[in-house]
Amino acid sequence: MNKYHHLYDQLIQHTNKENVLINEPIREHTYTKLGGAADFYITPSSYEEVQAIIRFANQENVPFTMLGNGSNLIVKDGGIRGIVMNLQQLASIWREGDKVISQSGARIIDASRFALEEKLTGLEFACGIPGSVGGALYMNAGAYGGEIKDALESTVVVTKDGELLTLTAEQLDLSYRTSNIPDNGYIVLEATFALKAGSKEEIKEIMDDLTYKRESKQPLEYPSCGSVFKRPPGFFAGKLIQDSNLQGHQIGGAQVSTKHAGFIVNKNNATASEYISLIQFVQATVKEKFAVQLEREVRIIGEDAEE
Ligand SMILES: Cc1cc2nc3c(=O)[nH]c(=O)nc-3n(C[C@H](O)[C@H](O)[C@H](O)COP(=O)(O)OP(=O)(O)OC[C@H]3O[C@@H](n4cnc5c(N)ncnc54)[C@H](O)[C@@H]3O)c2cc1C
Repeated sequence: MNKYHHLYDQLIQHTNKENVLINEPIREHTYTKLGGAADFYITPSSYEEVQAIIRFANQENVPFTMLGNGSNLIVKDGGIRGIVMNLQQLASIWREGDKVISQSGARIIDASRFALEEKLTGLEFACGIPGSVGGALYMNAGAYGGEIKDALESTVVVTKDGELLTLTAEQLDLSYRTSNIPDNGYIVLEATFALKAGSKEEIKEIMDDLTYKRESKQPLEYPSCGSVFKRPPGFFAGKLIQDSNLQGHQIGGAQVSTKHAGFIVNKNNATASEYISLIQFVQATVKEKFAVQLEREVRIIGEDAEE
């Protein structure tokens, strides 16, 4: 029993009982396979439930955290207090004219594949990004020259106060791996992508080529959070790490990938604390050798484990 568990009976007034898990191990829901438990792990099944849960969290002063596919996050070993919400049940994707509309719990990979089947071009770049549509908007995900900003037309969000709002893509201030979603505390519910009619063969060729590049360069055989660092202006993070002779360097079960220096992999049951120590070691070493400060792309959330 923790500080918030007495709220369970009230919480299940706002969504089905089956949608609320208690003390759920977050490592089951993250790509790095790291992290302690969430007090409540909630997967609402409608927009109204999302709004009601936000309002409830505000009213009861319960900390609230959104979790997408957990592919750009490190959750600390002590877990996350309060409510963690995931929108996996809100994952429909459909077409209207040349637009693809996706609920934010869908994987951006599935939105990209849907566009392929519909012979619509513009989302090929996203075919290998393992995040949800919500997580992809949050950080303006991108790969191989494309990014969310190029395709997004508008989005439906819930505000911090539980209100629904439709915003244009411009209103999100999307730029390199950032948006204003964190500052505004928006929860993304839906994204509309403006695409163009294209040839299925050509779209598929581009996606196959990007998949080949990804699979041959990235250590997809181990849990990881993808590229740990943003690209520093004028440099490549992976090259700086490689030139610092850090590939293969290990702290506990966390290792700088021998296949792609920009990745840190959970090679052998690492703790979040080992993973984070390795990130800091890489930053300090690169700073010392090249005077370049590597900025993290991956977010670190949650609490340290109690001693
Ligand atoms: C093997 C691998 C390869 C990768 N390749 C790429 C790549 O090529 N390009 C790239 O850009 N990224 C890449 N990533 C990183 C990651 O997939 C993206 O950052 C993705 O956009 C994260 O989405 P997510 O749903 O997993 O978000 P999470 O990791 O779950 O969350 C990240 C942040 O988004 C917020 N969030 C999630 N959903 C919502 C929502 N609905 N509303 C509001 N906030 C929300 C969370 O609160 C959190 O702060 C890669 C990761 C891995 C593991």
